Amino acid sequence: MRAVTWHGKRDVRVDTVPDPRIEAATDAIVRITSSGICGSDLHLYEVLGPFMTEGDILGHEPMGIVEEVGPEVTSLKPGDRVVVPFNISCGHCFMCERGLQSQCETTQVTSQGKGAALLGYTKLYGQVPGGQAEYLRVPQAQYGPIKVPEGPSDDRFVYLSDVVPTAWQAVEYA
Ligand SMILES: [Zn+2]
Ligand SMILES: [Zn+2]
Repeated sequence: MRAVTWHGKRDVRVDTVPDPRIEAATDAIVRITSSGICGSDLHLYEVLGPFMTEGDILGHEPMGIVEEVGPEVTSLKPGDRVVVPFNISCGHCFMCERGLQSQCETTQVTSQGKGAALLGYTKLYGQVPGGQAEYLRVPQAQYGPIKVPEGPSDDRFVYLSDVVPTAWQAVEYA
């Protein structure tokens, strides 16, 4: 597949890389139809470079069509249209049950003293391949992806991944 990859400070390219595959029973593979570029991606472009590895796939604001699911993903099926949240969280740990999915204990990157793993966002957050790509492996897919209806265009939904919840949280805090 083609994917946006990091090669160094201010050096991002579109490369051909291996297609992702199901690795865990809770994974899904999503064919990406739209993917945001975030203000946070600018940190990777420059200042967070020391935490990147050449070839890392960027992107944490994707949506698309489910292609394949692992055996424990019963809430999704191939053909479903989904938005994928940037946090990777399990939905059943102490933190998730209290609405603190960004601190999910199942995906926490404890080796770096960080919270939940994120898609496409440095070694600090698990070095999970991101969604600025033709296909994405979504870990913890039994919980994270949000099904959206057919019909309206992607730009009606893609902001549910990061932009809307981040703004919502900021307003709540204010
Ligand atoms: Zn973002
Ligand atoms: Zn959790």
